[in-house]
This record gives sequence, structure tokens and C-alpha cells, in this order.
Amino acid sequence: MRSFAYVRAGTVEEAVAEVAADPEAAFLAGGTTQVDLMRDEVFRPARLVDITRLPLRGVRRDGDRALVAGALTTMEELAAHEDVAARLPLVREALLRGASPQLRHMATLGGNLLQRTRCRYYRDPSTACNKREPGTGCAALDGHHRMHAVLGTSPHCIATHPSDLAVALLALDASVHVHGPDGERAVRLAEFYRVPGSTPHIENVLAHGELITRLEIPLLPPGARSGYLKVRDRASYEFALASVAAALVLDGGRIRSARLALGGVGTVPWRAPRAEELLSGVRPDDDVLRAAAEAALEGAEGRPGNGFKVELGRRAVVRMLGALAREGRP
Ligand code: SF4
Repeated sequence: MRSFAYVRAGTVEEAVAEVAADPEAAFLAGGTTQVDLMRDEVFRPARLVDITRLPLRGVRRDGDRALVAGALTTMEELAAHEDVAARLPLVREALLRGASPQLRHMATLGGNLLQRTRCRYYRDPSTACNKREPGTGCAALDGHHRMHAVLGTSPHCIATHPSDLAVALLALDASVHVHGPDGERAVRLAEFYRVPGSTPHIENVLAHGELITRLEIPLLPPGARSGYLKVRDRASYEFALASVAAALVLDGGRIRSARLALGGVGTVPWRAPRAEELLSGVRPDDDVLRAAAEAALEGAEGRPGNGFKVELGRRAVVRMLGALAREGRP
């Protein structure tokens, strides 16, 4: 591991100033991804600014509108919050299926949203990877890409975004609040991530030195049904082949409103607005659910090793929505 300078920040302003002043500096929170990447020589900061003592931890209600969670709140703390259990089952399930208990007690919400892809080539500096080293190529295109994306891809990168939490938060239209050298701003999660295009090394809209300070998570209305389905190769400690975060409000047997987002299939957490439109105002019969699933995967393009994900994603959508319509578990 490359040697690095270590600084512990006392305030948000100090942390931001430390990182903004040095192009090779980075924030350090739970470290559950970052330290692994440093050991593998994939991430090589010259200076780490420890933010773990900053007052960015805890969850509070903003009336009946939203939950506000500090960026240093752990995954376990949010999963255990009573309002998350009562009003946001999709968030709780995404958190519990997103990591082992040990990791959930260390990993922070901000870090979860910023975690790096699990593409094996990204983590192996001996291979070509445009995301790790721009302009070197993409070993996954003709290599092992069973876990890779079928939506939002480009000829430069087909890596999936690994966060489960981000998928559930996207379905809810959550926002992140950011503090940077030029002050504060809020960014909707729907506008936070960037598809790879020709610059896969740029994954989100954060500028260097900008720090996520809190998440604003809208509450679902009382009576809404929601859940998170994660299809994976084994039941724990594994990333999604396909996942679905969904919420339905039903009224007299019809869907009054629907929210739908997918994980494991996109280069970014993937919202499905066309599917949501198709679901609104109709009875959730088999034809409707299948039409929504087709719409959710519209434009998907598989490669030889991951083409199965297109139909897997559709079936996951049908299973999740059908379970919510019947008020069962998938
Ligand atoms: Fe790198 Fe993306 Fe290609 Fe993986 S898919 S090797 S992360 S460029």
C-alpha cells in the first residue's frame, strides 16, 4: 500500500478545505470499500481526511414528509429506525440484503452511495480498465461479464453500480445534501449518478472536495406497500444479478401510484418511469405487470455472458409487483 498522510477533521468546513486543497486527498469514513481498494493499489490517495468524528450521524423526522439521515449514520442504524420499519420497508430490506451485519455496523450511508463497482477488472491493476485508468480499454467487454450491466452501458464501460440502498432511495426520489468549497447544495439522487459514456471514471456529479452531509428520504404515504427483491447467486454476502425496489398505493383494487427502480442491471441505479406510468390507474393483472416489466427493461442490451439478465430483470419486476399487489413477500 502506498504511504499516505492522515488528518482527522474537526468540522465539516475543515474537512472540505483539507480535501479541496489537495487533488490527491480523499475523505475517509467507514472505510469498508476504500481500505480494500488501497490495499489492492487501485485507490492511491496521498492524504486521507478522517471524517468519522464529524456530527453527521443520526436519523430524524421532518414532519410527516421525510426522514433526514446524517451521512455518517451506519446502514444498521438506518435499518433499525422505527420509521424505516413502519413506512419504508423497501429501504430496510435493501439495507439488510446489502451487506453482512459486521459491514452494516461499519459502513456509512454516504459511503454506501459512493461505493465503487465490483467489476473484477477494476480491482485488478494488471488489466485494462477505463474506469480505473482512462483510455486503457475495457477488459470486461470480451472477458467475464456475467455480473455486468445491460442498461446504460457504453463501449467504454459496462460495470454495474453495486449499491442496493441507492436503488430503494431512487424509487423514493431521495436527495443528498452536499457541502463543498462553494457552499451547500441539494442533489436529487435521480440526477446524482452519471452513466459511463466516454468518461466512466466520472461516476457522479460531486466535485473534488464536496462532501455528502445528509440524505433526505421522502416517506411513503400510510398504507403504501413496498419491498426490495434481490436476485443473487447465494443468499448472503453477494451482489445483485437483478434487484427491484417497488412501492404501490392501491385503491379499490387499482394502482393509484407506483414507484419502480432496478439494481444489478444498470451502470447506475435505474428508475423506470415508463413502467410507473403504465401501472398507474389500472388493476395489477398479469398482462399489466408483464407490460410494466417490458417497459422497465426497454433498451436493455446484453452480451454473451450476461444476456440472461434482461429476462431475469423482467421476471424480478413481475414477481415484486405481484407480491405487493397480493400484499405478500416475493
Ligand atoms: Fe473497467 Fe468498466 Fe470495463 Fe469493468 S466494465 S473493466 S470497470 S471499464
